[in-house]
Amino acid sequence: MSSLELRNVTKHYGPVVAVDGVNFASESGEFIALLGPSGCGKSSTMRMIAGLEKVSGGEILFNGERVNELPPRDRNVALAFESYALYSPLTVRDNLTLPLRGHLSDTEIDARVNEMANRFELSDIMDRKPAHLSGGQSQRVSLARALIREPRVLLLDEPLSHLDHRLRTVIRARIRHMHDRMRSTTTVYVTHDQEEAIALADRIIVMNDATFQQIGTVDELWNRPKNLFVGGFLGDPAMNFIDAERQDGGIRIQGDTLLNGINPVCGQAKSVALGVRPDWITIGPDGADGAALPGRVIVNEFQGDRCVVTVDTPAGQMKVLADEMYDGAREDTVSLYIDQSRVVVFDRASGAVVGENPAAN
Ligand code: ADP
Ligand code: MG
Repeated sequence: MSSLELRNVTKHYGPVVAVDGVNFASESGEFIALLGPSGCGKSSTMRMIAGLEKVSGGEILFNGERVNELPPRDRNVALAFESYALYSPLTVRDNLTLPLRGHLSDTEIDARVNEMANRFELSDIMDRKPAHLSGGQSQRVSLARALIREPRVLLLDEPLSHLDHRLRTVIRARIRHMHDRMRSTTTVYVTHDQEEAIALADRIIVMNDATFQQIGTVDELWNRPKNLFVGGFLGDPAMNFIDAERQDGGIRIQGDTLLNGINPVCGQAKSVALGVRPDWITIGPDGADGAALPGRVIVNEFQGDRCVVTVDTPAGQMKVLADEMYDGAREDTVSLYIDQSRVVVFDRASGAVVGENPAAN
C-alpha cells in the first residue's frame, strides 16, 4: 500500500486551473521532489495534501485512507511552507518545543530542541522572536520545526529559497539525513531547482502548466524522458533537439546526415525531434564520415572541469560537453558524433516520445 497517493487531484481558483488531474503514489519512506517552473501548481498541490486547501476534484489518500475531509491537524503532516508562518508571540525555542508538547518528557524535549538548534545553526537565536529574524533564519527555524518530530508525511515547499548557496547545500544534506532517520515518513519536497531535486530525491515528479508530466528516478528522467518538456527541463546545458525525418533506412537530419543506429520502437510520426544530451556528442576533427554532423565552433566556454562548446551545424546550433582539455576555437570546423544508442525520439507534433533504442540504459 502506498503511503501517499493522489488520484486525479484537481484545483480550480475561479477560472484558473492550478492543478489538473494529478496522479501519483509514493512508497513509505520515499523522498519525492516535485519539480517544475514557477506557477505550474506545485504549492497548490502541497496545500491540498496538507489540508490547508480543499481539493476541487479527486482524492488524496494516506496509507490507503481518503483524507479529503480531514482537517490539517488530524492528518499527521509536518510542513515548512513560506505561507505557513512561525508563531510570532513565541521565541524560536518555544516554536520548536510546541510540536513536541504532550508527546515527550521535558528532558527529551530539551535534548531534541538542542539537537535541532545545532543541525540548523540556530543556537545563537533561540531566544529571539520571529519578527527579529532574517528571511534565511526564519526558514531554518521553520525547517527545524517541521523535522523535529516524525510525521506520516513531511511537506517542504521551497524550504531553502532564502539561504545563500553555501548554506543551501549544507542544509539540504541535513534534510536528507534526517528524512533517512525517520522510519516511514514520506517526504515531498517542492523546488524549481533541478540541482536540488536531483541531489535529494529518490524519485522526481515533473509538473508543467498544472499537469503532471512524469515521475521517475533521475536516471529515468534523464535517459528516458516521456516528452519534450521533461527532456528540455532537466539538464544544464539542456538537451539538444534536432528536427529530423524518419525514413526506411534510419533517420535523416538536415545536412543529409543519415543516422541508422537509432531504432524507434513504436509510433508512426514521420516528423520527429531527436533529443541528444550535450554529453552524448563527441567532437572530432573535420573530414569525418557520413554518420557525423559537420559543424563550426561558435564559442568554447571553459568551466574548470569541462568545456561547453556551442557548434553551428546544418541541423541547428548544438551544445556539446567536452573535457577540459578541449582546445577548439571559434571558426574551427569539426565533426559531431552522436551516440545514437542514447538518442531519444519525440513526435514533433505531439511532443510525446515515440521510441528510444532499447539498448539505451
Ligand atoms: P507554483 O507553486 O508551482 O509556483 P502555485 O500552485 O502557487 O504554483 O500556482 C499555480 C497557479 O494557480 C498559478 O497560476 C497561480 O497564479 C494560481 N494561484 C495560486 N494560488 C491562487 C489563489 N489563492 N487564488 C487564485 N489563483 C491562485
Ligand atoms: Mg510555489
